[in-house]
Amino acid sequence: MERLLTTRLVESLGNLGSEGVPVTSVYLGCENAAAAKQEFLAQFKDLTGKSNAMMSKGRSHSQKASIKGDVEICTQFLENIRKVDVRGLAMFSCSEKGVFESVGVAMPFRPHIIVADSAAVAPLYAALDEFKRIAVCVLDRREAKLYEYFMGRMEEVKVFTDNVPGRVRMGGWSGYEQARIARHIASREFVHLKNVAEILFEQFKLRGFDWLFLGVRSELREDVEHVLHAYVRDRLKGYIDAGLSDSVGQIGKLTRQMAQDLKARENRQLVERLAGAAGAGGPAVTGLRKTLEALNAAAVGMLVVRSDLVRNGVHCGKCGHLGIKSRTCPLCGENMTPAANIIEIAEESAASLGAEIRHVNGESHLDDFEGVGAFLRFPLGK
Ligand SMILES: [Zn+2]
Repeated sequence: MERLLTTRLVESLGNLGSEGVPVTSVYLGCENAAAAKQEFLAQFKDLTGKSNAMMSKGRSHSQKASIKGDVEICTQFLENIRKVDVRGLAMFSCSEKGVFESVGVAMPFRPHIIVADSAAVAPLYAALDEFKRIAVCVLDRREAKLYEYFMGRMEEVKVFTDNVPGRVRMGGWSGYEQARIARHIASREFVHLKNVAEILFEQFKLRGFDWLFLGVRSELREDVEHVLHAYVRDRLKGYIDAGLSDSVGQIGKLTRQMAQDLKARENRQLVERLAGAAGAGGPAVTGLRKTLEALNAAAVGMLVVRSDLVRNGVHCGKCGHLGIKSRTCPLCGENMTPAANIIEIAEESAASLGAEIRHVNGESHLDDFEGVGAFLRFPLGK
């Protein structure tokens, strides 16, 4: 059912719209994956009920019919879901053109619905950044297992053994023999580690990964790092306390935990960098008003926003100008449309500028700046 989230898919969805034919984009999130279907359905009904007027405002008769068709198709899709193992679901429909796509992810989306001339894909870009593709390699002196972790799913990719003799004490052999055997074992071990490094590099070229986690005893770590290809070594983010006899489930749990910790650290550093840059005069801004100004000036290079942030605002349906309160658009004089959550529209604006979107989960220093800020491509004129 749902497509796998990839950059290519998001880019193709971004090109989905065509002039005059509206695209309905729906984002849903459930807390309990076991009851996802019911939760998604209830949420969708609630969203369409609330947004009905907004969705068809200013639309022609045929556009309204297309939007109505979108709602029917999305409802049907949700009703036909059998088994759900996702917590976030995005649907894109353009019924007049017979286009429908859905994407599932492991984390709930902030529920919202947007009808526009193109698909609203900003939350997918944020999710792409959130879900790192992680290679996990668990190894010892003779064996190795390679796993791939993506969007909460762990998969075993490869298991291999190199024939390295065990390190048993061989009684009765002369000192010379022992030294020779030790050298032999050491060189076989070296070949094994080289093979592991080769397979990791192959995997990197074939599938790509953002991060690498290793499960290996501390005394072997230096040797392993030494043989890794430079590209692969750059992605080594740490070690998990796992061995070859551990189950996929156990290794998946350790991987998930470390990925969450790393992501939290990355986010903390990002927010500190943003606060520092904005404090030093930029080019960066913090706070809602300045961030909207920067979006209006097409200056945003990266939008940083608390993932569950909700703020009222206004936007101009004609030229896309964003604001907090103004009644008429300062650019074109059109009446501004109130938005229950201006953050959703701000994210779409950032995505259309080709800006990166980073979601920060939970409480952070970003809350001191209303939960939002941006790195800019160029300083804003005063
Ligand atoms: Zn305007």
